[in-house]
Amino acid sequence: MKILVINCGSSSLKYQLVDMNGEVVLCKGLCDRIGIDGSSITHKAHGKEFKKEVALPDHSEAFSQMVAVMTEGEGAVVADKSEITAVGHRVVHGGEKFSASTIVTDEVIATLEECSPLAPLHNPPNLQGLQSARQVFGDKVPQVAVFDTAFHQTMPAKAYMYAVPYEYYEKYAIRRYGFHGTSHRYVSARAAEFLGKKPEDLKIVTCHLGNGSSIAAVNGGKSVDTSMGLTPVAGLIMGTRTGDVDPGVICYMNDLTGKSGGDMSNILNKQSGFLGVSGLSSDARDLESAAADGNARAQLVMEMLPYQIKKFVGSYIAAMNGVDAVVFTGGIGENSSSVRANVCKEMEFLGMKVDDEKNKKRGEDFDFSTDDSKVRLLVIPTDEELMIARDTLELVK
Ligand code: AMP
Repeated sequence: MKILVINCGSSSLKYQLVDMNGEVVLCKGLCDRIGIDGSSITHKAHGKEFKKEVALPDHSEAFSQMVAVMTEGEGAVVADKSEITAVGHRVVHGGEKFSASTIVTDEVIATLEECSPLAPLHNPPNLQGLQSARQVFGDKVPQVAVFDTAFHQTMPAKAYMYAVPYEYYEKYAIRRYGFHGTSHRYVSARAAEFLGKKPEDLKIVTCHLGNGSSIAAVNGGKSVDTSMGLTPVAGLIMGTRTGDVDPGVICYMNDLTGKSGGDMSNILNKQSGFLGVSGLSSDARDLESAAADGNARAQLVMEMLPYQIKKFVGSYIAAMNGVDAVVFTGGIGENSSSVRANVCKEMEFLGMKVDDEKNKKRGEDFDFSTDDSKVRLLVIPTDEELMIARDTLELVK
């Protein structure tokens, strides 16, 4: 069975075709600059990369071009699109309506449209992806929606409620939702497998650290708290997002500058975080090297990041009354041994001990704690696409 995994953004379409017989990735690629001049498709298959400049006026055309590169020429991996059994889509916000992945029906699309105000930048392009896939593959090929928010729907009200007047929750669904759920679910389940234990028997803190970052407390296989909120701007300092700030700061900035809501959102989402504090870059690698060269503001960012992670990890251990493992994933979590070490060191009182030699590893699942560490410290490379493909298979079987 071959499952196509789709991650549709406002001007991009990422895809991956997975043969579920052995979970082999047959090809992956990116349609870039959809609806903008200079669009292209980059397709990776058979160990090679094929890039072509091609007009992509809309998402439907991007889907058609994607099918063309998968079925024709040197990059072909299937003879015909009819070999694709189902399509799994990443959908950012499922609101309170979806606590698990679901087969897409007209009713699901209508409910997702209702959720769009909660994620105005993400849900509309996700929906466009669902509709274009239906056009290109027809009604007979099932589509599955896999939500970033779904895994966190198990949070108790004490974790997801904000202390704003209750009517804002009732009328506008304002509450914590959390994101990166597919990644937290994948790495927490994989960590249990790695440790040879059942997820039900473990308390795990999962740290997804990339351009966007979030932390989750996973107790017995269920998310009980997470750092992102109503929107993905909350929690940790990120590439260009603030993470948590005193809400009064936003009102004060607004009073001082008179900027509109849209401008404020732009500052908080696109001009803050690593970029805003360092004034240099949103990329952790650039900041690690600038910090090593003595740049004081890059050094500050590289101190803020592990400090903030450490505070979330500590608070989630308190929330769960203990911890068996802390898991690192995402571009920074998987690759930056110094961020991992700076988070876990000086947490000996909680039973964490880093083995510096083991912490140098890369590119696979590994444990970088010492043999006598009470808490297992793990790196588990995330695989959201595989998780989407697995959910899709499960639902269409
Ligand atoms: P992601 O969003 O998961 O792709 O992660 C992107 C982030 O991972 C960027 O900030 C990168 O700088 C960071 N990253 C990737 N490789 C490394 C590395 N070797 N060391 C430190 N950070 C890295």
